[in-house]
Amino acid sequence: MIFFSDFDGTLTTDGELTRDFFEIMDFIKHHGHELVIVSGRSLSWGHFFLTHFPLKACIMEGGGVIVYRDERNEIVQEPLVSEKELKRLSDFTTKLQHHYPHVPLSADSFGRLSDRAIEFHLMDEKWIDEVMQFMDKEDINYSKSNVHINFWCGEISKFLGVKYFLEKYRKELKAEECWFFGDAPNDESMFELFHNSVGVSNISHCLHKLKFKPRIILEGDENIGPKGVLNHITSLC
Ligand SMILES: [Mg+2]
Repeated sequence: MIFFSDFDGTLTTDGELTRDFFEIMDFIKHHGHELVIVSGRSLSWGHFFLTHFPLKACIMEGGGVIVYRDERNEIVQEPLVSEKELKRLSDFTTKLQHHYPHVPLSADSFGRLSDRAIEFHLMDEKWIDEVMQFMDKEDINYSKSNVHINFWCGEISKFLGVKYFLEKYRKELKAEECWFFGDAPNDESMFELFHNSVGVSNISHCLHKLKFKPRIILEGDENIGPKGVLNHITSLC
């Protein structure tokens, strides 16, 4: 089986890695399954995950780039948008900074390949609207999470990243052997289009914002974040 999982709030608890996270890793490894982290975090975080945890692949930047170990155990990164779109993003970011010299790009934007992020909590409402209008005018895609405005060029979503990964690298797996865990609106493309989707119980805070909900929604304090992932995985295997 393969378990795809969001990272923040799904594999972490209040921003921390707890014992549950390591139990998930041990359980999956011991039973010969695979965990693939699917996160909005930067590509550089994907490198960290691969070098510190027993993972073979991660899908980062909300589905914009896959990073994996090849048959020689070398780390390979594969952007899922074209060079042309990456260049357009880079050029736009320069233009944005020229128009808004104080726009607060996130500290991890330097480690990003297929998107960039803005720390919008450092901006007032009017400025945020202005920047979003500027992106609309320049035909740039963006989404606002609870911490960042992420922006990118080309078609990127967690679902497209997972679909590409399964079709290219894990063709042998059947749909019923593939699961996804998430906790927030940036997991919605998976909830909409991926059959075996599970929301950990802390998703209750934002369920009202979701047009597409996970097929299975866990409940109770015993299913918050990684506890819910661990409970559900152990019930399946
Ligand atoms: Mg999350």
